[in-house]
Amino acid sequence: MANIIDGKTISAQIKEELKEKVTAMQAEGRKVTLAVIQVGKDPASSVYVGNKKKACAYIGIHSLSYELEEETTQEELLALIEELNGRKDVNGILVQLPLPPHIDEGKVTEAIRPEKDVDGFHPESVGKLCTGQPGFVSCTPAGIIQLLKRSGIGIAGKECVVIGRSNIVGKPMALLLLRENGTVTIAHSKTKNLKEVTKRADILVVAVGKPKMITKEYVKEGAVVIDVGIHRNAENKLCGDVDYEDVAPICSAITPVPGGVGPMTIAMLMNNCVESADSCFLGGRPV
Ligand code: NAD
Repeated sequence: MANIIDGKTISAQIKEELKEKVTAMQAEGRKVTLAVIQVGKDPASSVYVGNKKKACAYIGIHSLSYELEEETTQEELLALIEELNGRKDVNGILVQLPLPPHIDEGKVTEAIRPEKDVDGFHPESVGKLCTGQPGFVSCTPAGIIQLLKRSGIGIAGKECVVIGRSNIVGKPMALLLLRENGTVTIAHSKTKNLKEVTKRADILVVAVGKPKMITKEYVKEGAVVIDVGIHRNAENKLCGDVDYEDVAPICSAITPVPGGVGPMTIAMLMNNCVESADSCFLGGRPV
């Protein structure tokens, strides 16, 4: 049976390290401040924003909360970002996605100054990741690298297959695995013979957005399987993109859902907030 990669414990460790770091910064009179903007009242977004604010409070990061009406115009949102960009006391800016359809997410993402782009979505942050320069890295894939490293799983020289090519998970994941010297393949919705491709993987990262799609037929015996998916089934229970019961018996290590990748995303957001006020810590450092 596979080792379970415990994202709950690893994310708690990271949060403790960050708390210590922030406490030391405060003792030197330095404060970390994150501005969190939500437009509208999407219930899932409200839960995510609430969890982010809770994590900030735990670590000692000051959070400024902007809860804007659904009808907020793009110009009003851009004006607020511009104001926060200019404020010396604000280290990081986070705009919770998705935004209402009348607002262009690309324009909003690009409006945040790259030095304050704690989500790592700005094209400059992505370009820095691509060219091996320090910069903010998208939190979910950065968290997966920490899961692997802190579980003692080497990446260098390994066959790594990422299923999914989204801008926030699949592509940055592939770049990070490459940065760690993995041999990386990206599979996606147009990939032919997906099972043949995924069966090559020593490390298989699944970010396909389809509940329990990945069964043992897709997995090489002894592989490490990282499940990024989050879904609620008919009984309101969480499951991932991987059929855990089917796959766990044949792999060497696997992340559960819940308690695997999920908790790492917020931990790495907190890491990026601390990085935004201090020098590089975990995510943006090239190796
Ligand atoms: P997405 O829908 O943007 O991308 C899915 C990708 O899967 C696409 O690139 C597509 O090419 C590929 N794909 C779709 N069908 C396929 C198929 N049949 N075969 C091969 N490839 C296929 O999703 P995303 O934003 O990258 O998220 C993926 C999953 O991860 C979702 O379940 C999402 O909820 C979850 N997620 C979790 C976290 C977290 O913190 N744990 C963060 C972000 C996303």
